[in-house]
Amino acid sequence: MNRYWSSVVHTLTPYVPGEQPKQTDLIKLNTNENPYPPSPRALQAMAAEAAESLRLYPDPNAERLKQAIADLHGLTPAQVFVGNGSDEVLAHTFLALLKHESPLLFPDISYSFYPVYCGLYDIAFKQVPLTEGFEIDPDDYRITNGGIIFPNPNAPTGRLLPLTAIRAILDNNRDSVVVVDEAYIDFGGESAIALVNRYPNLLVIQTFSKSRSLAGLRVGFALGNAELIEALERVKNSFNSYPLDRFAINGAVAAIEDRVYFTETCQRVIATREHLTQQLITLGFQVLPSAANFLFVRHPGWDAGELAARLRERSIIVRHFRQPRIDQFLRITIGSDQQTQRLCEALADILE
Ligand code: PMP
Repeated sequence: MNRYWSSVVHTLTPYVPGEQPKQTDLIKLNTNENPYPPSPRALQAMAAEAAESLRLYPDPNAERLKQAIADLHGLTPAQVFVGNGSDEVLAHTFLALLKHESPLLFPDISYSFYPVYCGLYDIAFKQVPLTEGFEIDPDDYRITNGGIIFPNPNAPTGRLLPLTAIRAILDNNRDSVVVVDEAYIDFGGESAIALVNRYPNLLVIQTFSKSRSLAGLRVGFALGNAELIEALERVKNSFNSYPLDRFAINGAVAAIEDRVYFTETCQRVIATREHLTQQLITLGFQVLPSAANFLFVRHPGWDAGELAARLRERSIIVRHFRQPRIDQFLRITIGSDQQTQRLCEALADILE
């Protein structure tokens, strides 16, 4: 016990992000960053912001960015919320929309930040087991709840839930908010944004960290009915008026405008993912079908922790979760073709 700490601090078990090593010559396949640089237009827009105007606060409502996101998805700015990375958007969502008497539901294997937010905000929750094949079964979400949240594609499995299944979850849960965390949707999934105008209880959250190569900028957003967005704005404006700085607002707008670059880099990541999947299967791995920028794999003959350690000796870092059900899996981010080649050579060498 620390007498200076508030009582809540004693109860917290904070989230531990994947390692960001100081060593720069590592092949870093552990935190699902994009191997390609941000759009040159985004970089240019941010460079232009390194100017005298930094003496002024940014727009507290980031209206340019909200308009750009709304236009991109055929919605109105009142249906858009923006935050400092989707982690911040998620945090506000937990407090604004998911804290109720009945427990919040999320899969037993999903983004490990969810239980951390529940701890921070004192939210009751129930983890719903994925099926044997690590899939979400919509029927498992027909129980009393104060809200539902899941990543789609799921993390760290990469498995995609089709829109028909999401509709089934929404149809069975009209009285609570359903949040779809689409951090990885641009790598081949169908977004639930198409359902936002049909379901007033649906909130879709996305990020610029993965498909737009801007993890370092910290921009995330949520799309939903204007009343859901207003709840998020109330929490945000009780916490930080300026979560997005001038670089973030202008860089993110320019990244959206550069549609060609976005499509090309996503296609490259998808092509590498499909190629790597085949190579890993040839090496004897079991590979879950992935619609994300990572693969979730296991090797029947090798302990996953041991494999991760051996890769690290060869300067390649991947993510291993010491967690029930998945402690024999590795999550491998899709890197460039060259990094992927190095990975396969190292694995072949280790397995020999
Ligand atoms: N949701 C999921 C499922 C994630 O894996 C991540 C990345 N760790 C995030 C949200 C948060 O991403 P960011 O805060 O960079 O937008």
